[in-house]
Amino acid sequence: MADFFVPEIDPKNPQRHLRVLQTEFGFRSVYDSVSFCNRCGSCQQVCPTYALTGEEPFSPRGRNQAVRLAAGGKLKIAANRARLEQVVNTCLLCGRCTQACAGKIPTAQHMLELRRALRNTVLPGLLQKLLGWRSRRPGLFRVVVRTGLCLRRMGLLRLLRGCGLTRLAALRWLEHADDILPRRINSSDKTFWRQALKESPKEPSLIYLPSLEAAFFMPSLAAGVLKKAQQKYQVQVWEQVSSGLFEYVYGDLRQSRRLVRRLIRRCARTGTGSLPLLTDSIDVYLFWRRAPQLFDRWPQLARQAQAWADRLVFVTELFPKTPPAATAVAAPVRLDPAALFEREGKPFDQARQILKTHFKKNFVECFYRDADTPAFGYAFVRGNLSEQIFLNTVRTVARTQTGTVFTLSGLSALELNEQLRRFYPQAQADHLACLDG
Ligand code: SF4
Ligand code: SF4
Repeated sequence: MADFFVPEIDPKNPQRHLRVLQTEFGFRSVYDSVSFCNRCGSCQQVCPTYALTGEEPFSPRGRNQAVRLAAGGKLKIAANRARLEQVVNTCLLCGRCTQACAGKIPTAQHMLELRRALRNTVLPGLLQKLLGWRSRRPGLFRVVVRTGLCLRRMGLLRLLRGCGLTRLAALRWLEHADDILPRRINSSDKTFWRQALKESPKEPSLIYLPSLEAAFFMPSLAAGVLKKAQQKYQVQVWEQVSSGLFEYVYGDLRQSRRLVRRLIRRCARTGTGSLPLLTDSIDVYLFWRRAPQLFDRWPQLARQAQAWADRLVFVTELFPKTPPAATAVAAPVRLDPAALFEREGKPFDQARQILKTHFKKNFVECFYRDADTPAFGYAFVRGNLSEQIFLNTVRTVARTQTGTVFTLSGLSALELNEQLRRFYPQAQADHLACLDG
């Protein structure tokens, strides 16, 4: 891997940053990567935040320009902190700009570097702490989530909302969490999932690493993935796995690196170092595929990370190659390809193909201008913007009279479902893995 010279955005803390970014055209330093932006503006119109605000600093071009100036030392971070935080925290990290850009400039990755330089926590403090426990204190995290779900069933959240306590800044995220999490859980899926956890095969041929949503809030997703995987493989489930994605996006890079390294080592230690690794979250999949960029200072680890990333399997690969008979549905279906960092590549093509073969003419092709679902908890950070952005998706769903929107991430399905319930209850969202067949 080339050793780039990087005029750092944050020269005193190089370990907080990626030294090189894994881009479409190979590894590049952040400075090189933003410098390739020629300010042509082809990405402006696809950016949801620019579409809403019409302001250059909230566009991909403006954001890249801010990073270039900061990295070149022409824009002082301390003096412009408040404005830069707005520029960074409003970015959805959706990668629509990269899709539209001929040079495939990874603006979302640049935003993460700037976020790290600003060292702002982004998420509400309590939520940040709670999600951080997932990797630092997994046992405690599990107890807190189970207790929270139990208290919710007993009506405590309703009471807090009724008293107006969830309007307090520190607790506002609770209201959103209460809205998006499903109220009823299919008990047969739950039983199937628990049973599968108990009956781990002695000689597995695939490791399933369920996402946070699948493990806690969407047993239908976990069961759907497992049923499909068991048709081809002896599946071993690794529970309580922290992907490192949360730390990468919202926390610190060093912890994220530690978690990915822990996973790579666990594979080697348990003798599962050559088995395919299955994930149900497109965000986690795309992040793990980029694992080598986390270890560019350690060539041996980077090679291990590359070998590990090459074994990743996304759920779309579990669907049969031969097309089943088309499923008759009353209303059209569509795919919402919302993901962190990018929206094109193998899993997206496979997902489209699966829906086309399942639903034939009833599959409505989604153009990237149409779908806007913010990914990975954006609504926790920017409730005001996210609602308007979600409304664009709801409008498209209503205009095409769609019945079901399939997503590639459990969290996107949960969040979109909440907006559909409010504004267009005729439609629903579901993870593609829950599709039969
Ligand atoms: S990010 Fe790409 S499309 Fe956007 S202004 Fe820069 S070069 Fe043009
Ligand atoms: S990642 Fe999304 S929100 Fe951010 S600049 Fe690109 S298109 Fe805009």
